Amino acid sequence: MPEEKKETPQKKQYRRKRRQPPKKGPQKEGQSPRGQQADSKSIAVSVVVPLYNEEDSIPELSDELKGVLGGMGMPYEIIYVDDGSTDGSFKVLRDLHRNNKRIKVIRMRTNFGKSAALALGFQHASGDIVVTLDADLQDDPAEIPNLVKELKKGYDVVSGWKKRRRDPITKTIPSKLFNYTVRLVTGIKIHDFNCGLKAYRKNVVKTIKVYGELHRFIPVLAHWQGFSIGELIVKHRRRKFGRTKFGITRFMKGFLDFITVIFTTRFATRPLHLFGTIGLVSFFTGFIIDAYLAIQWFLGNITLSNRPLLLAGFLLIIVGVQFFAIGLLGEMISRGQNREEEYPIRDILD
Ligand code: UDP
Ligand code: MG
Repeated sequence: MPEEKKETPQKKQYRRKRRQPPKKGPQKEGQSPRGQQADSKSIAVSVVVPLYNEEDSIPELSDELKGVLGGMGMPYEIIYVDDGSTDGSFKVLRDLHRNNKRIKVIRMRTNFGKSAALALGFQHASGDIVVTLDADLQDDPAEIPNLVKELKKGYDVVSGWKKRRRDPITKTIPSKLFNYTVRLVTGIKIHDFNCGLKAYRKNVVKTIKVYGELHRFIPVLAHWQGFSIGELIVKHRRRKFGRTKFGITRFMKGFLDFITVIFTTRFATRPLHLFGTIGLVSFFTGFIIDAYLAIQWFLGNITLSNRPLLLAGFLLIIVGVQFFAIGLLGEMISRGQNREEEYPIRDILD
């Protein structure tokens, strides 16, 4: 059929791009050979930087990023997402953007949190590879080429591991516990779930939904969508300017969010499997205890008035029934929403 063979201009352009190695000739910062702005279709790496009140760090970070990304010889863009900063961060970013068209700035109306900032950055990223890092200079931009190299070995996500972490002990010890628990429960064999430095294939960032404070669980969200996760040890530095934006409450929130992640990704469409299992275990434990006591009483071996175990049995039976009922209610709500699941498809051969 003639129509099928016809090649659209876009396709032609795509073929040309694939065959030709990237040009490394002298090029003015942020400009494509045709002039004005970097061609968004040809961007190889997007760097997404979420930030909140980091005015002192941004200039140094920007210089470092420019050096590293320029040296990689790939077309790139840097997307700074200003998460409603109240200091001069946006002014600094605006000046950077004026001088370099590769730098994009998205400013949120108010502080929505790191997850929201990342999600927004992911939405706007057009590179085939997307790299994230913190704005506070703790993550070293020099690690970006290493992450990209590791990603090209075939992973969908490569997560940094701050093996030598330059943070106070009040943060490092609970963090180890947190990572251990998440590793144990999810079975994902990485050591540092919440590292700011990560590299993704574009497909991943367009698929996962990061909201609330779920940025701590991005590898979990990606893994459960069927993406492969790799890990690379990265250099970590002390905070030079400003202070951490996450206080001691981070661990409590992290724990609660973990329950959310497990529930929403694993059981949202089948709540009875979770609540029903707990309910059945509780019910039958109580039933066996009370049945044993009843038989003993029937045989005349014991009197029940001095057996607190009887009450424990009753309690387990009642709690069991309640859990079961919650599970059934959950099923009804889940069905009532009539939700169509979005299943992650890797390929379709049509
Ligand atoms: N951040 C953000 N929004 C927030 C809090 C933090 O965009 O509400 C950014 C922050 O500016 C930094 C990164 O998230 O670039 C990590 O934050 P921080 O360094 O405070 O975390 P820590 O290193 O203590 O885990
Ligand atoms: Mg930090």
